[in-house]
Amino acid sequence: MNHCTRRRFFSMAAGGAAGVLSLPGLSQALQTAVSPYRRPKLKITDIKWTYVRTHGTPCHVRIYTDQGIYGHGECTDSAQGAGAIIESFKRMFIGQDPLNVEALWERTRTMGIFAGAQAGQYVTALTGMEIALWDLAGKAVGLPIYQLLGGKVRDRIRVYCDSQTLRRDDPKAKDKIAHIAGLGFTACKIDIDDGRDPLRWDRVNWTASNGEIDHMIDKVGFMRELLPRRVDLAVDMHGRYDMTTAKRVAKELEPFKLLFLEEPVPAENVDAMRDVRESCHVPICCGENVFLRHGFRTILEKRAADIIMPDIQKCGGLLEARKIADMAHTYYVPMAPHCVVSPLGTMASCHVCAAIPNFLVLEWHWIENLENWRNFVKEGDVFDKGWIPVSDRPGIGLEMNEEHVRKLQVPGTPWFS
Ligand code: MG
Repeated sequence: MNHCTRRRFFSMAAGGAAGVLSLPGLSQALQTAVSPYRRPKLKITDIKWTYVRTHGTPCHVRIYTDQGIYGHGECTDSAQGAGAIIESFKRMFIGQDPLNVEALWERTRTMGIFAGAQAGQYVTALTGMEIALWDLAGKAVGLPIYQLLGGKVRDRIRVYCDSQTLRRDDPKAKDKIAHIAGLGFTACKIDIDDGRDPLRWDRVNWTASNGEIDHMIDKVGFMRELLPRRVDLAVDMHGRYDMTTAKRVAKELEPFKLLFLEEPVPAENVDAMRDVRESCHVPICCGENVFLRHGFRTILEKRAADIIMPDIQKCGGLLEARKIADMAHTYYVPMAPHCVVSPLGTMASCHVCAAIPNFLVLEWHWIENLENWRNFVKEGDVFDKGWIPVSDRPGIGLEMNEEHVRKLQVPGTPWFS
């Protein structure tokens, strides 16, 4: 309160002619003299998007405003459908105040119930928009996103290296494992499903033969022999196998003390996932293709997973991910988000991971693509020896290095300028 305002405040509080400091006078003075929350109202003026080829072709979206600031979002969009859906969102977003994130999100979702807003690409596109809104909100109020999600419970995010498939007969495997350990990771993941295994007898059926199962277990054994003991190991089966294979593999993996076994059966039959979980002592993780709280509610209620792994770039957005995490927390289930996007999307995920109590570990998928990871944003490499320090800058806290990323643009797609 400046000098002039203070004088006015005390003169009003004194209660005029009575000249006595009265409670009604004080109350009136407080209501009159304290500045109400005022900000220049932002208005959305335009929305632009593009596809960038990194791991798959995520969609990047920008929401522009009448005051020169924009928000940037990224969504996981393997089938390149989000752009067209984002175009259809324009009529609901342009002219609106971007800081009312929940209202815009809920209105767009409920208006799309006949257009597939329960899951899939509609939610993926909405996720990209929602993340751009949070980036914009953070920039508008000068705060990092984690602060808008409730504040942070940790300063840096533990990431695991998705090292894809590594097998004993690969001459480069030993060097790659040493490289991963040397980068400082405290956890990594391998894929053990193999559609081209020579001992696979059927091109369509996913009941693994004894030989295939031996190969799967040997991949895990090989990794465990070479990885330092301090590095946790997770294993992905990509939801390809049937119940009998899933149960047999899970049982044989018990001695390896895995961080988790990911989607031994497809995640859409929650009862089947629960049956696998109940058959073994390996922590079961699932949910990279599950959408919204509604998708995770069933998994949690049926106790189908030890760990959930929403993809924060397609499950509904940053606030939706926080809500999913909170729901899981009531079941004492931790969250290890799926993540295959650029440093921009990864840092957006980090803001959620920083804000939730039950965060376990975040996926990182760039070991084969380090040059693009290091040059994707103007801030350079945001990775630090197996961890990502959470940005304290407003919004996501990173800006795309357009000069570099333009080289990765999917031909024929629009750009931001
Ligand atoms: Mg997976």
